[in-house]
Amino acid sequence: MTEPAAVPLDLTPAMIEQLGRQALDLVVRQIAALPHAPASDYRTATELSRRVHRPPADGPGDFAALLETFRQAAGQGVDTSGPGYLAYFPAGGLVSAALAELLAQAANRFTGVAQTAPALVAMEESVLTWLASQFGLPASAGGLVTTGASAATLSAVVAARHDRLGAEFGDGTLYVTEHTHYCLAKAAHIAGLPAGCVRVVPTTPDLRMDPAAAAAMIQADRAAGRRPFLLAATAGSTSTGTIDPLSVLAALAREHDLWFHVDAAYGGGFQLTGRGRALLEGIGEADSITFDPHKSLFLPYGTGVLLVRDPAALRAAHAGGGQYLQDLSSVEGLPDYSQLGIDLTRDYRGLRLWLPLHLHGVRAFADALDDKLDLAALVYRELSADPRLDVPWPPDLTVLLFRLRDGDDERNRRFLADINATQRVYLSSTTVGGVFYLRMCVLSFRTGKDRVEEALRIIDAATD
Ligand SMILES: *Cc1c(COP(=O)(O)O)cnc(C)c1O
Repeated sequence: MTEPAAVPLDLTPAMIEQLGRQALDLVVRQIAALPHAPASDYRTATELSRRVHRPPADGPGDFAALLETFRQAAGQGVDTSGPGYLAYFPAGGLVSAALAELLAQAANRFTGVAQTAPALVAMEESVLTWLASQFGLPASAGGLVTTGASAATLSAVVAARHDRLGAEFGDGTLYVTEHTHYCLAKAAHIAGLPAGCVRVVPTTPDLRMDPAAAAAMIQADRAAGRRPFLLAATAGSTSTGTIDPLSVLAALAREHDLWFHVDAAYGGGFQLTGRGRALLEGIGEADSITFDPHKSLFLPYGTGVLLVRDPAALRAAHAGGGQYLQDLSSVEGLPDYSQLGIDLTRDYRGLRLWLPLHLHGVRAFADALDDKLDLAALVYRELSADPRLDVPWPPDLTVLLFRLRDGDDERNRRFLADINATQRVYLSSTTVGGVFYLRMCVLSFRTGKDRVEEALRIIDAATD
């Protein structure tokens, strides 16, 4: 076999066009295949994983063959983009955002500071300012686009720690519930807070943080000489999609001078809908909000947002510099994102929000999310009408838990396996109060009524 022709690092315009067309052609085929692709497929996963695990060759490769390797590899595992993906948090992955990514990466501008790409930073900032206003934060609020809610939460916790505790923070405590995402405890740990600083507040029977219990714990901790500094509420928990009583908790945090953080990683997008806005009442009182556009704004993975009431607190905890940056100066009215977060050099994440929002228009997102609320309500109605099933909690948003009434956890695990074995839908599970539940989340813009009804038929058939 002869070696493929050399591929210069600086692709010629003709080659960009040729390779670009091949790549785009694959994208088109993959997206077109989604409705019929298996929701999960592991048939060749082991063999393929072994085959692709090889170092790059010394010489050039064949682009078509490399694309084919990618195509096969992407075909194994869970199809997290397809309409049958109803596990964890399905976002689908807007192709318009992928196109934005291509543009951003090909332009490869530096947006860690405003000076090197002021107008691009202004575009990103316009999205953050708009989001902050949607949540009811003041016009002076700011933030940054991160790689996800975990990274955003780390920056929020560090800012709160720095702002409320100062340099000596060994006696600081923060308040969560057992349904809070573990990224808060992880952030506290990475931020150097000691083990035991994360206080787990009891929840009411509807799985929400109990404000009276939180108040009692804060007071007891303070009386014992500890320094409570952060109260973390959840606007759409990961296991059950439950929203904590945000207004009450905001008032509690203010009364005790705690930083009020709202984890809206999943629930945040619903703020664009009337129903969501009513459910998230009080979120505008937050000192910080984390939100994952790669969940409820349908973006591809890798896009989180941190919003803060007072960007100065974020900057105080993250700013730094070096002699090698001496040529850079700040731009009036624009943030230097490297001063607000972990990254200095970063990809231009703003475009993957900016382009889809401007291209599709905000209403397209709001309508799609409203549709998901309707579909989740439909699932709840249908499943709770089935006497064989236990469906304990009506959904706040679009997450539903259910299990077979007559059957232990083991039987319910098989129930889930039977449903997923159809390869038409893919559900996950969780445990609440020590009990195993199947978990279904309707969130992808690609999941319509047809697939939801098919899921209900599959569940019905697997129930016997
Ligand atoms: C997904 C999720 C997170 C973590 O976000 P990543 O983007 O996966 O890092 C945090 N909190 C909640 C409520 C989540 O659902």
